[in-house]
Order: sequence, then structure tokens, then C-alpha cells
Amino acid sequence: MAKITISRSVAGLRYPTLASIKGRSSTIRAEFIKSVIPEIIPNPMEIEEALAVLQQNEGSLCCSYCGDTPTEWDHFFSAVSNKMPTGYITEVYNLVPACGKCNQSKGATYWNDWIRGRANLSPTSRLSNGQLNITEEQLEVKIGLLKDFEEWGKAKITKLDFDSVSGHEFAEYFKSCEELIDKFADYEKTAIALKTKVEGTLRKRS
Ligand SMILES: [Zn+2]
Repeated sequence: MAKITISRSVAGLRYPTLASIKGRSSTIRAEFIKSVIPEIIPNPMEIEEALAVLQQNEGSLCCSYCGDTPTEWDHFFSAVSNKMPTGYITEVYNLVPACGKCNQSKGATYWNDWIRGRANLSPTSRLSNGQLNITEEQLEVKIGLLKDFEEWGKAKITKLDFDSVSGHEFAEYFKSCEELIDKFADYEKTAIALKTKVEGTLRKRS
């Protein structure tokens, strides 16, 4: 289903967004998937070791991709792709400090394809637009460190096979998500009918 974004402007300002129950489908689906992805909380020594591979430490953190001030830990290998878990989880071997721009822009793309690609806000795109705060040479150094990180984690990183771990439970769980989303269309129809009824009682303005 195509994603419809309704944005309205009145006198040049963004007008309150039209509510849409169906419009929440992709968020709900994503939360269903993310809710089953395990996490292993790293201890301070593990964090230190991982950061050292990236030549960082807690006192000098930067986005591992573009060098900007980091705001979050990014899944180095995406935990979700094509609306399914990839098998990668939230753990120290799969997390790097990142800025919001890079995290958003990278999505589920393999880091080395994305970082050299032309996706909106990718480091290479920002470099060509003069929006990157590091030079091309410094970006190459970052890519080298990310390769080191990938190599470092290779033997230790978790890659689960969700189906073999959970049997049919996992498929059932996703089916229940789709059933829930199917109901959204009915709820939306009810909501629109109710709204129309309520609006009908409002005083007519001239
Ligand atoms: Zn960044």
C-alpha cells in the first residue's frame, strides 16, 4: 500500500495533520518486529573495547560515519529489513556511535554501500554538497576504521535464525499483526462516520 502523507498549509503554516488510523500501519508493523529483537546490554569494558576499534573513547565520541556529534547507537548491520528481522540483534558487536542524520539515511542498507552511495544525507552526498564537516581523506580514514570494526566483530556477532529458534510461533505472531492492521480500515471507517456526525452538529458559519 502506498504511503500517503497529508500535509496542509494555511497562511503558510503547517495546519493540524489529518488523523489516520490506517496511516499507523507501518509504525505498528515495525514495532511488532522490533519488539522481538533481543538485546545484550554491554558492560563498560566491552564498550571501551568496541570504541577503541573505532579509535574513540567515551570522552571523544563522534559519529563513526561522518564525524559529527553523535546522538545515538546505530545498528551497524540493520536488525530489520524488508519488514522482517535480519537476525542481527542489539549488542556491542553491532552498534556504533552515530548522528541522527546518518542513522536515518543509512536505513537497512549495508554500511559500505550506503557510505559511498548517493542516498539523501549519506556522507558522500553531504561531501559533494559541501555539508560534511570532514574532508574526503578523513572520510576514507573513517571507512577504514569501520572495516576494522566489521572485521573485529565478524567472529563474535550474533546472527539469529528466528524461524528455527521459535518454530511456527514467529509466523503466527506476524499473522496476528497483519490481522490487527486489517482491522484498522474498519476502525477508520467508523471514525470518519463519527466525525462526520459530530461535525454535522456544529453551528454553520457564514
Ligand atoms: Zn553521521
